Amino acid sequence: MRWTRAFIRTVKETPKDAVLPSHQLLLRGGFISSSAAGIYDYMPLGKRVLDKIRFIVKDELDKAGCEEVSLGFVTPSELWQESGRFFKYGKELLRFKDRKEGEFVLGPTHEEAMVNLVRGRVTSYKQLPLNLYQINLKFRDEARPRFGLMRGREFLMKDGYSFHASYEDMSREFNLMEETYKRIFKRVGIDFRVVEADSGAIGGSGSKEFMALTDSGEDTILSCEKCEYGANVEAAKRVKPIYPPFSDNRKGEIKTPDVTSIANLAEFLKIPEYKTIKAIVKKALFDNGEKIAIFFIRGSDILEETKALNAVNANELIDPSNAELEKYEIVTGFIGVGYKRSEVLTIVDRELENEVDMIGGANKKDTHIFGVNIGSDHTFADLIAAQEGDSCPVCGAKLKGRSGIEIGHIFQLGDRYSKPLNAAFLDENGKAKNFIMGTYGIGVSRLIAAVIEANRDEKGCVWNDKIAPYLIDIVVGSLKDKAQKTLAENLYSQLLHEGYETILDDRDVGFGVKMNDFELLGFPYAIIVGKNATENRIEIVDRKSGERELISADRIINWLKERV
Ligand code: ATP
Ligand code: MG
Repeated sequence: MRWTRAFIRTVKETPKDAVLPSHQLLLRGGFISSSAAGIYDYMPLGKRVLDKIRFIVKDELDKAGCEEVSLGFVTPSELWQESGRFFKYGKELLRFKDRKEGEFVLGPTHEEAMVNLVRGRVTSYKQLPLNLYQINLKFRDEARPRFGLMRGREFLMKDGYSFHASYEDMSREFNLMEETYKRIFKRVGIDFRVVEADSGAIGGSGSKEFMALTDSGEDTILSCEKCEYGANVEAAKRVKPIYPPFSDNRKGEIKTPDVTSIANLAEFLKIPEYKTIKAIVKKALFDNGEKIAIFFIRGSDILEETKALNAVNANELIDPSNAELEKYEIVTGFIGVGYKRSEVLTIVDRELENEVDMIGGANKKDTHIFGVNIGSDHTFADLIAAQEGDSCPVCGAKLKGRSGIEIGHIFQLGDRYSKPLNAAFLDENGKAKNFIMGTYGIGVSRLIAAVIEANRDEKGCVWNDKIAPYLIDIVVGSLKDKAQKTLAENLYSQLLHEGYETILDDRDVGFGVKMNDFELLGFPYAIIVGKNATENRIEIVDRKSGERELISADRIINWLKERV
């Protein structure tokens, strides 16, 4: 490509509203442009990077035996009603009507559509397993679209769905996808970690996330200093900490006027926070109805909302109104594990089971109780957020926290969609069974942002040769100089002929401007054709290391062959 013919528009100023470096660089480099919140147009350079990532994803998936399809972006809402997600999905699902009043959604994910494609067409265990994927647009009306390609409303996702006759076979495919994803992310050139993820109501290790390790991620992951254990904080477990013994001979009720927070309670009673019990009240929303839920955890712990949500199997947890609290005689600030009412859900953190001599609310205004023994007669669940410094549930070493960007997610689904959508096959005994499924996603457009977050410097992007928009930028010092112009043109045709993706900066602008653009756009190599052209020599700049090397122009192909 000749720069003078290319649609490349770089800007010096950092766009306001863009806080994340990747967002700033993508806009400044003219890779993308935004037409509305969370909606992006890809300009030629951005499209080239996107296509390269797409190619890597496709190449590895095809090698692993998956097949590409392409499903409609617009999905009839009946399918979503069949699965029960039409109302459950909330406002991220964009619903609309066509001219005939037919209801549709813009696909935020395609479990329903894929099951619909397969049901009736795969009817026997002999036609299984099957792994179908697409790399297509998704739309989610995110509450807070931000950070550029990181959290868009319209974005490109690879979504794959596998169909099996048994759980064992699905599990085999799940492991194959984990290995395939690892190869994809290595090839894309990103540092990542596979972590245990929240699997919703399914639980267990049915779900894994691939986290790009960067300083700017929205997700927090905890990983073990010693072993391989890693988990999203939403799912992270820990060994129950050992708390120093604390004896107190106060027993029974004690007046604690206006002492409603754990910190104040500990201070007021001169007790450690880990001897107290904290209650958090939420309203849990279900498919058909709602209930007040009280979660009890140790005063020194933090409630992990995703775990709390899973514990009551709700769609959402919101704050209850004062009227609702009054209705159920919930005395905020003084709620204790003794609270029991059949209409209200009460869940106690598993680490509190059989704990003795605790201090908690008395379910009476301005009153707490000493000597609370929790026993085992409650509903227990893992409710708390593991923290940096806690002990690894696998080996006991320390857990370390860091931020990550979710670039992929693989999930063992079972019959969660095949059952409601009535998608079945005949097994070996001629018995109808629902497909056992897995689902596998990659944030293809998010990967662009994640790669930049992980590979950049103060001057701009630093692409690797696998996904760079162009591999080589030929920077001509002076176009008026005949020797320089001729050599640059010759190199350009030679490189194109040899199949190297090259851009020739033939603009009539200063050398400094050209080099700034080279650095901002982050092509792996620049070939500077300057004064040395008369001796047929060129200078090669390595964008990543900044190293410069003067070589004879005749050697360029060999030089590249040794490196790329
Ligand atoms: P998140 O927790 O970041 O919202 P998710 O759990 O909703 O992600 P999935 O439904 O598993 O994501 O989607 C698969 C992949 O699509 C994610 O791993 C992520 O890389 C990407 N992705 C999800 N939401 C967005 C978005 N709004 N913009 C860009 N990529 C996204
Ligand atoms: Mg999401």
